[in-house]
Amino acid sequence: MNIILLGPPGAGKGTQAKRLIDQYHIPQVSTGDMLREALKEGTPLGLEAKKYMDQGALVPDSVVIGLVKERIQKSDAKNGYMLDGFPRTVAQAQALDGILGDLSQKIDHVVSVEVPNSELMGRLTGRRTCRQCGAGFHVIFDPPKAEGKCDKCGGELYQRSDDNETTVKSRLDTYEAQTKPLIDYYEDQGKLRHIDGVGKMDDILTRIKAVLG
Ligand code: AMP
Repeated sequence: MNIILLGPPGAGKGTQAKRLIDQYHIPQVSTGDMLREALKEGTPLGLEAKKYMDQGALVPDSVVIGLVKERIQKSDAKNGYMLDGFPRTVAQAQALDGILGDLSQKIDHVVSVEVPNSELMGRLTGRRTCRQCGAGFHVIFDPPKAEGKCDKCGGELYQRSDDNETTVKSRLDTYEAQTKPLIDYYEDQGKLRHIDGVGKMDDILTRIKAVLG
């Protein structure tokens, strides 16, 4: 099953993807994670991407399309994958359709995780991640037992550099201008499934599983 998780920054796509992949046995393909990994390794691609990420802007389409094209052809993706944070522009969606056509594949479901704008800023600026195991926390909604320390592995928690108020504002504007049109794009293809992204994590997961079948 090939799935796209669509939604604004802070909708909880990554969190839900991590839980869904365990149950569907398909990998999460997060372009944001791939770009952060490239930056951590100090590759030219990662350093170039950082300029855009720090401003809350999108990395050029050609860069992320290339990353995804390569990633979905790896052996662990042969039974499907969950795209998280890609596509983010209509040009990326069109390129993806072309790549999938060449590979004789298709997207089965596009899950639109919907959260009111008023909630997103607080969700993002309070977000903390474990440096060691990648577990996610929130300083108010899901605080760790000991401040700054991961409950699962004891690793150090950090705040993503683009989760500050100024960059979050740009990311939300970028979403409205460039990514939201994808709702109509996939609605027209009859693939869009609307999910209420507000509430308990478990309830949202249940809603997503119900539409995926
Ligand atoms: P995310 O982890 O999905 O919130 O992405 C973090 C940042 O990585 C975004 O603000 C963009 O700068 C960049 N990025 C991630 N995915 C894409 C994409 N599909 N197209 C362009 N830029 C992306």
